[in-house]
This record gives sequence, C-alpha cells and structure tokens, in this order.
Amino acid sequence: MRIATIIVAAGQGIRAANGTTHTPKQYRRIGKRAVLTHTLRAFKDIGESIVVIHHDHAEHIEHIKAELGAPIKTVIGGASRSESVLAGLKALSGNAPDYVLIHDAARPFVSQAVIDGVIDKLSEVQACAPALPVIDAIKLADGTAVDRNELNRMQTPQGFHYDAILSAYQSLSGAIDLSDDIAVAKQASLTLAFSKGDSANVKLTYPEDFTRAEENMSTSFTVTGSGYDVHRLIAGDHMYLCGVKIEGKLALLGHSDADVGLHAITDAILGGVAMGDIGDHFPPSDPQWSGARSNQFLKHALKLASENGAEIVHVDLTLICEKPKIKTHREAMRESIADILGLPQTRVSVKATTSEGLGFTGRAEGIAAQATVTLKVTQ
Ligand code: MG
Repeated sequence: MRIATIIVAAGQGIRAANGTTHTPKQYRRIGKRAVLTHTLRAFKDIGESIVVIHHDHAEHIEHIKAELGAPIKTVIGGASRSESVLAGLKALSGNAPDYVLIHDAARPFVSQAVIDGVIDKLSEVQACAPALPVIDAIKLADGTAVDRNELNRMQTPQGFHYDAILSAYQSLSGAIDLSDDIAVAKQASLTLAFSKGDSANVKLTYPEDFTRAEENMSTSFTVTGSGYDVHRLIAGDHMYLCGVKIEGKLALLGHSDADVGLHAITDAILGGVAMGDIGDHFPPSDPQWSGARSNQFLKHALKLASENGAEIVHVDLTLICEKPKIKTHREAMRESIADILGLPQTRVSVKATTSEGLGFTGRAEGIAAQATVTLKVTQ
C-alpha cells in the first residue's frame, strides 16, 4: 500500500497569537523545534508528505527545512481549509497513492499508534478518523441535556482511500468549507469508521496550549560538579576569601585576588556543565586578570550555566586551613556567595576544617578549598 500524508499548514493561527509574536502557530517553537517540524517528524516513516502552506509563509518553510535537514514538498493552499486540502490532494495526483492521511500541522504530538490505528481501518472502510469519547456532560444553551454517548471528538490524521476522497472534494461546491475531512467523506457517502484517538494528540489553538506543551516537553534532572583549589599563604595585610575581605598578617598569593573559595566554587559550576575549568576561561597568562576580583569569575560561570539550561540550587564549600580562623567570617562568606549567585543563604554552606597540623595546610603554607555544587538542568 502506498500512503501519502497531507499536512495542512495554510492557516494564520490568529487565536494562538500571544501579543508579542505574530508568527503563525505552526511555525512557533516548542522546545527545540517548530511545531511543524515536530509534526513532519511524526510522519517521516509513513511515505511521501506534502505540506499545504499559506502563500506568505515561504520564509518560514525555509527554517523548517533547515531544522528537519531534509527537503519538504509544499503546495500553496486556498482561502478555506477545504480549498487547501483539495490543493494538496491534486498535488499528489501525478503519483497517486492508495491511501492519504490528512493531518493538522498544529497537532505535533500525534503518536505512531494513532497513525497506525487509522491506516489499519482503511482496509475495511474508505474513511477513518481518530476519535475520543466526550467525558463532560453536554448541554444546549437552554440547559437541555445532550447524550454524550452519541458524541465523538474528532482528531487527525484522518485517513482515506485517495481516489474516493479526491472525488468527494472535487464534487464539493466551491463555497462550502466543511470543518474536517470526515465531513466531506460523509457528504459523499463514503464508508467510514473511527479509530482510537489519544488525549495527548492536542490541537494547539490558544496561547496557554503552547505554555502547557512547553511544560510537557521539558525534562529536568540534577547534576553535581566538584571543584578544588589551593593558594599559597604569604605575609601581607589582607586576603579575599569567598568574596569577604579578611584583614590581618596574611595574604593569598595568586595572579588574580587568589580567592581560593570562589575559585573552587567556579570550578564546581564549570564541572556541572562540563565546560572546562577556571584556567580555560581566565588564563593566568592573560594580564587582564592580574589582581582581578574573583567575583567576576563566579558570575561568568553562573552565566555559562544559565546559558546551558542549568540552574544552581545548592553550594557546599569546605575550606581546609589552619589560618585564618574561618568561623567568625562564615556567615559573611555565605552571604557573599549567595549574593553573587542569586541564591538564598539557606542554599549556601561554608564549612572549615584544619588538617591536624599535617601537610602544607597543616603547616599553614596555604589554603585548600573543595566545593560541590548541585545544578538543575532543564532541556
Ligand atoms: Mg585558584
């Protein structure tokens, strides 16, 4: 059986306009792709697809081709939906298929099961549409009850024997615009049946439909990154630790301000988004970072994380040193880190430990810092 698909995308999508964009709904993005791209991907294994487009939308189609990475056959639609479908049917006539599926571009979430259900029925009848039962009670405006068991909600793709639906459309009077293709088949007395619809196969119509679709498509997961850094302690009169100025007889040696705490957190964030380390982004060989405050390194890592869909949810830092004593500065450090990262202070932990007099930290030759950052990635 040769099966072709007509995707009806000739509408202006005015009801879905959200006030800031006039992009027709079939060309708006959901997640990483345009609605029409999602739709075309759903039908890519069925057979030939032809998209009926509005004459003003040639530029949009170029974007879809680029997203799809494949050529797209298009035909210009008419003033009404019925005229557009007829244009699509005629465009297939040179190489007529046995069956044709007619689908709304604005139903990008159609499943393979729904498509297969329609195709299966076409061995018994000339026309088939996926249908859903009506769950809510239905009343006329005057309150009269309507038996919902008599009613079905129609979805697409609606499938037909090609020759039968083509002649049904050709026999329609030009002025008539029926709401869907099953209505045309019914008028022409084609044999018809309903297959199983799917509540996920929604037709995107209103701005809130797009918001919901975005939410349904986005998935989030948690990643952690770790960072470690060491800087040498030297004689001096102040140091910056976690962005807090600590005055005394010690300083930290380094190319920048040598803020070992912020460096470890910066590296942990870069680790979470797998984007190298602090030295890749701020090479010590680059004179512009000489004496630089490390707040900007941390802010840069935060920006990179955000650009990669990652949101920092928690920071846990351990400073390993004999000097200076951290405890009196700890709350100021938490506040400083929380402030740079735009986090509540309750999501920032600063801990300190000595190393029992052992090693370089024990001899107070330097300070080591170890950070773990938790990030929520949404894609
Ligand atoms: Mg460092």
